[in-house]
Amino acid sequence: MADVRNPFVIAQKQLDEAAQLLRLDPAVHELLRWPMREFHVRIPVRMDDGSVRVFEGFRVQYNNARGPTKGGIRFHPEETFDTVRALAAWMTWKTAVVDLPLGGGKGGVVCNPKEMSQGELERLSRGYIRAIAHYIGPDIDVPAPDVYTNPQVMAWMLDEYEKIVGRSAPGVITGKPLPLGGSAGRGDATARGGIYAIREAAKVLGLDLSGATCAIQGYGNAGQFAHKLAVEILGLKVVAVSDSKGGIYSAQGLDWSTLVKHKRETGAVKGFPGAEDISNEELLELDVTVLIPAALENQITEENADRIKAKILAELANGPTTPEADVILHQRGVYVIPDFLCNAGGVTVSYFEQVQNAYGYYWDEETVHERLDRKMTTAFHAVHEAAQKHKVHNRLGAYLVAVSRVAEAMRLRGWV
Ligand code: GLU
Repeated sequence: MADVRNPFVIAQKQLDEAAQLLRLDPAVHELLRWPMREFHVRIPVRMDDGSVRVFEGFRVQYNNARGPTKGGIRFHPEETFDTVRALAAWMTWKTAVVDLPLGGGKGGVVCNPKEMSQGELERLSRGYIRAIAHYIGPDIDVPAPDVYTNPQVMAWMLDEYEKIVGRSAPGVITGKPLPLGGSAGRGDATARGGIYAIREAAKVLGLDLSGATCAIQGYGNAGQFAHKLAVEILGLKVVAVSDSKGGIYSAQGLDWSTLVKHKRETGAVKGFPGAEDISNEELLELDVTVLIPAALENQITEENADRIKAKILAELANGPTTPEADVILHQRGVYVIPDFLCNAGGVTVSYFEQVQNAYGYYWDEETVHERLDRKMTTAFHAVHEAAQKHKVHNRLGAYLVAVSRVAEAMRLRGWV
């Protein structure tokens, strides 16, 4: 992977900038540039045709100064150790920016779930947990869903873990189905948190969002719920969405429930009746008020940053914008809600799920929404104020808030 687009090189570069501004102690900086501990595993899986395929998996426990490491597991054909390292670093900043008593971690398996049967996926999920079971736990490291993993995958993983340790341990993994100790409100939490952040951004910018336009890149869990909630909570008109197969546009706005049905039936958003097909690149450059990248890394780069017309760029994906693009967007006055703030709703409700698992008593959805809103709103304003005060772009503002919290925990522990 070319260095400039390697997410881990980008994550380190972002940290370096914040370290300089914070005049971070060199030892703290050095510790924060690298994962504390990482696992590289091989997982043999019996395929449906009787053959055995060996999959490559990773788990990175980046930093646990503020608490057990926390972060999702991605199943993706292009997964690499460095993407997982970067995502684990971003989880460290994410849990800190919303002030959760957690550290950051991430996992990944190189595989293509779209080409695997349910049985193969189940055996792979169980195999991954067998490989790392002795190094995770409710007080050690707590996985969750991410790209191409879901509550069913979490359920298999929980079951495998509990078989190994011989007791009930629902807090070992979050994003579980409700009957297995999942939390109300976890399903749409990533999108919902982002929607609350967009609402706050509009307030500080003095923008009226009702009837304003929105485009969403990516139509997985985060993208689909972002569509629904952008309309329901903010009154936005979602005029364009895309997935890995291409995008669609309709000036009248796209109806969420019919589109979700179309995607479920055809496997793509393309070809949606009444909408015009557009490319992913065209979607990013549309003249809309709010642009929500909700897919993968490196979508907004120095090549297209000067053509982004949105007023608010709300990053539901992890790492969608490169550092070069950040500078261009800042100069052009695009208000960026940086990824580890914008998409922190998922891990925030994961944390609520852990809390509920620990005391075996479950909250209603309203309580979850209220507490999530409070967390997101507080974090949003902490970042906004830091960026204003230091006259830097919001991502750097978010780093200032998060890194100083992690550094303080490390200092209090006497690590440095
Ligand atoms: N995978 C999600 C993220 O990137 C959620 C992580 C979690 O719930 O632990 O934030």
